[in-house]
Amino acid sequence: MVEIRDLHKSFGNLEVLKGIDFTVDRGQVICVIGPSGSGKSTLLRCVNLLEEPTKGTVLVDGADLTDPDIDIDAARRQIGMVFQQFNLFPHLKVLDNLTIAQRRVLKRGKAEAVRVARENLAKVGLEDKANSYPAQLSGGQQQRVAIARSLSMDPDLMLFDEPTSALDPELVGDVLTVMRKLAQDGMTMLVVTHEMAFARDVADRVVFMDGGVIVEQGPPSQVISDPQHERTKIFLRRVL
Ligand code: ATP
Ligand code: MG
Repeated sequence: MVEIRDLHKSFGNLEVLKGIDFTVDRGQVICVIGPSGSGKSTLLRCVNLLEEPTKGTVLVDGADLTDPDIDIDAARRQIGMVFQQFNLFPHLKVLDNLTIAQRRVLKRGKAEAVRVARENLAKVGLEDKANSYPAQLSGGQQQRVAIARSLSMDPDLMLFDEPTSALDPELVGDVLTVMRKLAQDGMTMLVVTHEMAFARDVADRVVFMDGGVIVEQGPPSQVISDPQHERTKIFLRRVL
């Protein structure tokens, strides 16, 4: 589903990604962990070409996103992304936040877009908030709306960049519950997170990054519960 080979990314003289290799199979959940500044967000942003890799290849469903001849909008349409900040349109009601891209990008008719939106609001437990404005919702509810909005575009792959980091602790659980359900339903997910319990329970593989490289990766039972590298041990001691 996703194959990343020898991915490098520099900003000027600063080399942020120094040769990243990994794959995500269809239906898998991969959690990326690592200290601040290790390049996790940059990696995610390279997967949907919000950043252009300096070198290497990013294959999504067999299509090479770094190929200049590829239809990048079509490729990107298959990929949903949820950020720390929810980025909802504040002047639009929840339902309209969920239908606008469906209508403009996927050219869905109004009735179809509304049907899909309501279906996805139900999935995140917020059918009753369709007519609210984002400011009338809690942070956790806003993030669930952001997830429902992404899902309304029928993505094959969902990227999450610390989706719960901006939330008050008591609101984190509801968002993680939605993400767990999504994983159980078979969504392919690449998740940057500091939620180690989530990574341990849900991830098929955990990738530990430090200094722009993957220090180790493997099942959570190995990387989180029995890390092999000193750097991983030091990081986990700080976050667990
Ligand atoms: P955090 O856990 O704090 O979110 P991260 O692992 O996501 O950290 P990145 O955001 O990928 O780290 O940043 C990695 C490095 O790249 C940092 O040193 C950052 O300052 C630098 N960087 C990121 N984006 C840019 C940019 N657009 N221009 C210049 N430097 C950048
Ligand atoms: Mg980041």
